[in-house]
Amino acid sequence: MLSYQEAREVVIQRVSALRKTISAERVPLSMALGQVLAERVLADRDYPPFDRSTRDGYAVHAGDVSPSVTLPCLGELKAGDRSAKRLAPGTCVQIMTGAAAPPGADAVVMIEHTSRDGDRVTFQRDASSGQNIVPRGSESHAKDALLQPGQRLGFAEVALAAQSGATRPLVRRRPCVATLSTGDEVVAASRKPGPFQIRNSNEYSLGAQVQLAGGKRVPLGNAPDELKALARSVRKGLRSDMMVLSGGVSMGKYDLVEQVLRELGTRFYFDAVAIRPGKPAVFGVCGGVPVFGLPGNPVSTMVTFELFVVPALDILSGAPPRPLPLARALLGEAVKQKRGVTHFLPARLEWHAGEPAVRELPWHGSGDIAALGRANCFLMVDSDRPEVAAGEAVSVLLRRDTL
Ligand code: AMP
Ligand code: MG
Repeated sequence: MLSYQEAREVVIQRVSALRKTISAERVPLSMALGQVLAERVLADRDYPPFDRSTRDGYAVHAGDVSPSVTLPCLGELKAGDRSAKRLAPGTCVQIMTGAAAPPGADAVVMIEHTSRDGDRVTFQRDASSGQNIVPRGSESHAKDALLQPGQRLGFAEVALAAQSGATRPLVRRRPCVATLSTGDEVVAASRKPGPFQIRNSNEYSLGAQVQLAGGKRVPLGNAPDELKALARSVRKGLRSDMMVLSGGVSMGKYDLVEQVLRELGTRFYFDAVAIRPGKPAVFGVCGGVPVFGLPGNPVSTMVTFELFVVPALDILSGAPPRPLPLARALLGEAVKQKRGVTHFLPARLEWHAGEPAVRELPWHGSGDIAALGRANCFLMVDSDRPEVAAGEAVSVLLRRDTL
């Protein structure tokens, strides 16, 4: 059976081999968070566009300044002011953070290191050339590429695009991801379930994960455990860029997802992964569309989406697959698990005395959404090291929505 790393590699290779990238569109920058660039964004001018003071203080010739020297202050420059006049030797000008240093000045002395009496400023320390000034063009030059195709727009990237006036960037459309849950016991979340029915929470968690990963949700509701009806819904899902099913991939008599996908011509690349929860996860390609059959228990569905579906979505979007959001933390309480599978246990990551520490939360197996609601990460227990003592360093898979 494949390890989770191997299974991820398979997904990455197979989806890359489809050589499909979603088409591009221009969108308002304010709507583009999480979308992937399809063009380079160039600097429209030098950054900073002028020699920028990084402090409130006095612009000086560094050589004029030493402890207890007093210089006349000839004026004031605030952010946005034009600074055309050269700084005369033996003088200083008061300057604010973000203002352009006057020509000739090569240092700014912080106001905290000066005292002032009328128009005379006394300095307390030496100044060195260049201090507290970011020279024009030191961050980037006009026409430099600030952002590359394939880069996902996060909050820093949208700021960078905005800085150069790229307010309608060309980005990849968000891949449409059809989600379909399966199960005779599943009813729409808006409905009152019968005593032995279950509300369709996977429709919502999958939709949320699709959205978080940069895709567009296409919820197809639930299909019963019946071949014809299931096939009808799957066909609909295959019109999207990608399809994710939940439930119906275990060994039960009514687990029909693989059969239906096979009959529709799916080529499978794995049908189990050495993880818990989530072992029966299935991945294949049907008519050029990546298809995932995730186990229906909600925690399994969520874990397997994070592990396997996210990289597929990245590739369709023209982005390199992002690495798993893993971190290291000290284990609070010893854990002991079964050997041979990598465990992903609902856990809480907290900082104790500046150190990240993680502890497993009590839970009742992969149906226990309430446990995940208290968790902010998954504690990982390796397949070949099932016992870990308190105080040892362990890996955690972060929840991208809460951390
Ligand atoms: P399955 O993978 O089809 O064997 O489903 C395993 C269990 O997951 C079922 O017994 C349900 O309790 C639960 N389950 C399946 N689908 C959903 C869903 N869409 N929403 C919430 N729970 C589900
Ligand atoms: Mg089922």
